[in-house]
Amino acid sequence: MECKEALSLIDQYNEDKLRGTQKEQFLLHVKNCSSCYEELDIKFIVTRGLKGLDSKEPTDFNFSGMLHSKIEKEMGHIKRHHSVLQTVLLFILIFLTAVMIILL
Ligand SMILES: [Zn+2]
Repeated sequence: MECKEALSLIDQYNEDKLRGTQKEQFLLHVKNCSSCYEELDIKFIVTRGLKGLDSKEPTDFNFSGMLHSKIEKEMGHIKRHHSVLQTVLLFILIFLTAVMIILL
């Protein structure tokens, strides 16, 4: 993903509207691109800050820390999802190989 695309997705990410591969590509990009991460960080602070002013609940003002742990958590989900998928595919492959051996 290029910076231009990543930057255009920041608002959607902040509204939790990104899904699947698009979200994955976005997260991978901002993790490796400091200028896009900074842009996301600023918008995240603004979005959360405004929400915090609206709600009566106490607000955690460590927004940068919040964003960082949010990204880490989401990346963790993606990685876990991938390894489950890989394990399933491996089992299917083993199963098909076994069927082939039995049939031949
Ligand atoms: Zn970038």
